[in-house]
Amino acid sequence: MTKLREFLEKINTRAGFSGHIRYDEPMALHTTFRVGGPADVWIQPDPAVFPQYAAALLHAARDEAIPVFILGHGANLVVSDTGLHGIVLDTSAWAGVSAPHLLRFRAGTAVDAAVEAAAQQGAGALAFLAGMPASIGGAVYMNARCYERSVADTLIEVEILDETFHQTIVPFKPQDYGYKKSPFQNRAVLILAATFRPEPRPPAEIWLEIEAHRQDRTRKGHYRFPSAGSVFKNNHAFGKPTGQIIDELGLRGLRSGGAQVAPWHGNIIINTGTATAADIRTLVDELITRVHAALSITLEPEILFVPTTHP
Ligand SMILES: Cc1cc2nc3c(=O)[nH]c(=O)nc-3n(C[C@H](O)[C@H](O)[C@H](O)COP(=O)(O)OP(=O)(O)OC[C@H]3O[C@@H](n4cnc5c(N)ncnc54)[C@H](O)[C@@H]3O)c2cc1C
Repeated sequence: MTKLREFLEKINTRAGFSGHIRYDEPMALHTTFRVGGPADVWIQPDPAVFPQYAAALLHAARDEAIPVFILGHGANLVVSDTGLHGIVLDTSAWAGVSAPHLLRFRAGTAVDAAVEAAAQQGAGALAFLAGMPASIGGAVYMNARCYERSVADTLIEVEILDETFHQTIVPFKPQDYGYKKSPFQNRAVLILAATFRPEPRPPAEIWLEIEAHRQDRTRKGHYRFPSAGSVFKNNHAFGKPTGQIIDELGLRGLRSGGAQVAPWHGNIIINTGTATAADIRTLVDELITRVHAALSITLEPEILFVPTTHP
């Protein structure tokens, strides 16, 4: 830890850091599941220094072989109970419209804030994402999908800090994206901003759509308990949604410690208050085993276990 402190003091002075920095920071405070042990260090740079500081930090960390985990809004993560070694770079303060383009949002912008900003300009492209807890960076990285649309359907371009720590524009190419897949999942890059197509529509119609999605998510119990939304991917080859498969096998309500398959939805696991990451992992594995035993199909988790060697 002393080595990490010294490393950060050096880099922070050199790169002119401003923002928040905390050692042994519980990741449970930064994930919607409310689980996760301590990160060695959690850093949230101020917007005034974000791209330059991130470039300096990522470059120096690579040279010193210090792992850096990029955190959006923590809405798709199960962070290990033993925490994260190295640095967590929190993007959430790097938020807002990124002028001059009015539909270009910085990576840390809350998706719901982007949805509203777009609607105020009569742009309907993002309305389908209303109510989804996520940052723009995380939504692009995951190619988030709901109500039959994916983020990729609306993208013009993504600005990244590339592998050589330069700011680069990546124009949208449909062949680079797939179901819950983006090209950034295979690269060690930081998404800085994304620009979306406007899809102009009458504002009243856009706001109605936004309200309908928010109400639908509330009705489906998305916000009742800490969770990360859908646990498993859907797969056309299964012939029905994964949640329905789990429901029909009578697995709603199944528990492991403080983690439980939501009694009202087969594809959501909730933290009933005392869940650990290990409880969630055990429950996910149990569901995979039981579904495979019954139907000979293998469910694929959509939630990300971090680090990937997570027990
Ligand atoms: C109640 C609820 C409902 C949900 N509903 C849906 C839904 O309908 N559809 C859906 O697809 N998902 C849904 N999710 C899951 C979640 O919202 C998405 O996966 C979202 O894309 C995660 O964004 P995030 O900012 O929280 O990313 P995080 O969870 O913080 O990170 C996810 C991954 O993205 C990477 N990442 C994040 N930001 C950046 C960046 N700037 N640059 C590079 N990498 C980055 C992280 O390193 C990590 O690998 C739901 C979650 C909840 C809690």
